[in-house]
Amino acid sequence: MEVIVMDKQQFLDEYKAVFNENGKDVFFSPGRINVIGEHTDYNGGHVFPCAISIGTYGVYGPREDSTVAVYSANSAKEENSKIITFDINDDQPQTAADEKWVNYFKGMLVYLKQRNYKIDHGFNLYIHGYLPYGSGLSSSASIEMLMGNILKDEFNLDIDEVELVKLGQKTENDFVGLNSGIMDQFAVGMGKKNNAIFLDCNTLEYKYLPLELGDYEILIMSTNKTHSLAGSKYNERVEECGEAVKRLSKKLNINKLGEIDPQTFDQYTYLINDDTLLRRARHAVSENERTKRAIDAMEKGDLEELGRLINASHVSLKYDYEVTGKELDTLAESAWEQPGCLGARMVGGGFAGSAIAIVKKAAAEDFKKNVGKVYRDKIGYDASFYDAEVVDGPHKL
Ligand code: ADP
Ligand code: MG
Repeated sequence: MEVIVMDKQQFLDEYKAVFNENGKDVFFSPGRINVIGEHTDYNGGHVFPCAISIGTYGVYGPREDSTVAVYSANSAKEENSKIITFDINDDQPQTAADEKWVNYFKGMLVYLKQRNYKIDHGFNLYIHGYLPYGSGLSSSASIEMLMGNILKDEFNLDIDEVELVKLGQKTENDFVGLNSGIMDQFAVGMGKKNNAIFLDCNTLEYKYLPLELGDYEILIMSTNKTHSLAGSKYNERVEECGEAVKRLSKKLNINKLGEIDPQTFDQYTYLINDDTLLRRARHAVSENERTKRAIDAMEKGDLEELGRLINASHVSLKYDYEVTGKELDTLAESAWEQPGCLGARMVGGGFAGSAIAIVKKAAAEDFKKNVGKVYRDKIGYDASFYDAEVVDGPHKL
């Protein structure tokens, strides 16, 4: 499926229809997928994500007063069509249920101002996103980094992208209330065309690796289901891993599960003494190891090994971390059966959302048809398939 995007002039026209004046600039911020390394970021492990061409557009227009006025074409569809306004000096989250989406934008503004970046007049913002909410492709990081980069550009802020990435995570954690790691914002903010980012979430050391897949491509498979409990379950996993660290640190000097290798973990599992916590921690440790092995495989050009690691990642997310669910399992497990598929797994927080598959280009059409049919028969509605183009991070059009 191809996502049809409006052109720059159409976004400016939409801005004008909403705000009754001309907009100044149009910006784009991508979504992301993650090749491997799931639920490892807040555990201080490694991840291997990349930015994708499906993302969010924003049109900016300056104002002379101190009002910020935000309108989202997407939220307008889901809730009531309205412009939400606040003062640039207001540092409290929006609390009305139908205004909570504004907090992703407002948090970025608040945290930049708290760090003394000069934002001294109001503005209008028109938002149009192509990432379905909760689809595992990180619409939230897409809008945080969109906002950060618009403010950086329009107010000439002297801030580097990694700092904006950290403010994006802080917005998500402290302004919105999801205890997520840094992967999503990093993948979006630091995106590089045709490259994935091997990131150590403990040290923030990173390197780009070209996603050279030869005769293969990455397909995105969407369950077309979002999970309303995903946020609370996510925070529950964060807590479970924290508890496992607490128990392990009776004998091991660690702050995060990403600091231990599987051999060491194995020697100290007796300290955990709880089946659920043991499985959660085992996922975090083994997934971190798989991610490092996946980088070795990529560097050697061993795509089959990469595929096996991707499959093992899904299995671990299903049985040890228990964040998949029948929709994601159906997609991954039916993908594994298809000729020309090297590997498939869920991406993002889980419970619903999307999965990816590495598929031979020549086999892609049959793959979509076959997996699509299994999914429809078993789940009762259609999955969607997208070709992932790997792109640069946020920029002005
Ligand atoms: P994900 O990041 O996986 O898509 P999240 O639950 O983290 O899912 O973020 C989705 C939330 O982000 C939405 O419920 C909404 O509040 C906000 N959001 C994302 N994109 C937009 C948009 N284009 N306009 C307004 N709000 C958006
Ligand atoms: Mg998100």
